[in-house]
Amino acid sequence: MFDIRILLGGLHQEVNSFAPGRTTVAEYKRKQFHFGQDMIDLAANFVRCNEGADGIGGSYRVLHEAGAEIIPGGFMSAQPGSIIEQSVVDDYIEQLKKVTRENLPLDGVVLFMHGAAQSEKSDDPEGDIVVAVREIVGEDVPITVGLDLHANVSERMVRNANTISLYQRYPHIDVWETGERAARLCVGILKGEIAPKMAYVQIPMIVAASSYTTETEPFRSLMAKGHEYVKEGKLLDFSVCQMQPWLDVEGGYSSVVTIAEDAEIGAEIAKELAVGLWDMRHEFRTDLTSVDEVIRIAEKNDSGKPVILNDFADSSNAGSAGDSPEVIERVLALESDVKGLMYINDAPFVAACREAGVGNTVKANIGATISSKLYTPVPVEAQVKSLFDGVVPFHGTFVDFGPSAVVKIRNMIIVVTTQHRYNGDPCLYRAFGYDPCNFQMVVVKACTSFRAFYGPLTDLIYPSSTKGAATSDLLSLPFEKIPQSFYPFSDGEYKAEVLITK
Ligand SMILES: [Zn+2]
Repeated sequence: MFDIRILLGGLHQEVNSFAPGRTTVAEYKRKQFHFGQDMIDLAANFVRCNEGADGIGGSYRVLHEAGAEIIPGGFMSAQPGSIIEQSVVDDYIEQLKKVTRENLPLDGVVLFMHGAAQSEKSDDPEGDIVVAVREIVGEDVPITVGLDLHANVSERMVRNANTISLYQRYPHIDVWETGERAARLCVGILKGEIAPKMAYVQIPMIVAASSYTTETEPFRSLMAKGHEYVKEGKLLDFSVCQMQPWLDVEGGYSSVVTIAEDAEIGAEIAKELAVGLWDMRHEFRTDLTSVDEVIRIAEKNDSGKPVILNDFADSSNAGSAGDSPEVIERVLALESDVKGLMYINDAPFVAACREAGVGNTVKANIGATISSKLYTPVPVEAQVKSLFDGVVPFHGTFVDFGPSAVVKIRNMIIVVTTQHRYNGDPCLYRAFGYDPCNFQMVVVKACTSFRAFYGPLTDLIYPSSTKGAATSDLLSLPFEKIPQSFYPFSDGEYKAEVLITK
């Protein structure tokens, strides 16, 4: 038995500064809101029955196997969305501080968070959380952090954490492993096996999340280089962060973080990877096809594989509200009989369907119920095919889409929900009774993550030039805090400098 006490917890949410409304505590309670023994049960259950589900589970497993006593700091997570109400962050920090104080002395702290949060009063809530814990535990207790590849790794966070590890894959299929990496570093420090030094380099660029994956070039080679350095023993860990581009915050940057035994080597490699990312900036492009063109292509699709109309601008995982009716509007305008399958988030429309009942027709507006500044509602006549409570099996767990309806408009089957959730996996449509493989065209509202799940089904994927809070046209967004000196607002020379090495 290795006699250590480690605090585990975190607040996990990606924010889109341009998404309408505010994220309230209700959004967390709908997804993950676990404190005390409940948080331990959540993590332990991930280990027992649903490995891979979440990073907090990965951290838990490593800490548990190391024989640590795990102190639950509280874990809450919400669907990506709008700026967080300040009280949500304040309450979490107060709770975390209380647990930290009550459990002193602690040997270590592991925090698993997203890293791209923003609240009403803070551009760096995760930094606030790390600082709050650091102030209580003191300088000698290691704090290791796991974050999303799209985090805003802030200078404060780096100064107050011992190590920071981001997902290394996009689509994010290494969330669990990232939780493990963060925990392993903490255990390694406490066992005296490693004495990691972190190097941090900022990169003044943001690019659309739809424009790259780590599984394809050029990003793949850059990540491979980092992995090679780990294999050679030069690095213990590395992260290349492309800050999510719809986050308008002071001090936000893309960045590289390396963790090495030798500070000098870590710093050199951090600079090399940062320059590598900067140098490939022009290659991060999203080639777009208009909605009309995708519909026309899909009408002729008899390949047996669905054409994917990728409406990433309305992506649930990039904070959009999922209420864009743009594709429906174009199908109606073109009088298209394309056999299509799509998803939209529209609570009033679901209510109308429930009132009408299965088999009946609803005449109402659809879409733009939340994003009224971005879209215009579309008047439709829809046949109600089925009604659901919306709690459906998803990725080995259950996801609550809220009361939902499936309707038919022309030749389109449309899943209408009252909660916007991740929909980049064909299991969503299957859960509502329809297989994407039986359609000419499937609308997917997700950025890049969906390629992990739809890629095996079809290569007919068309990122489309739709409007939305997660548009790839970053120049069209009203940034106020990200400096105009950043790429793509301007372009020029970049000299990588190690801002922090510690
Ligand atoms: Zn991400």
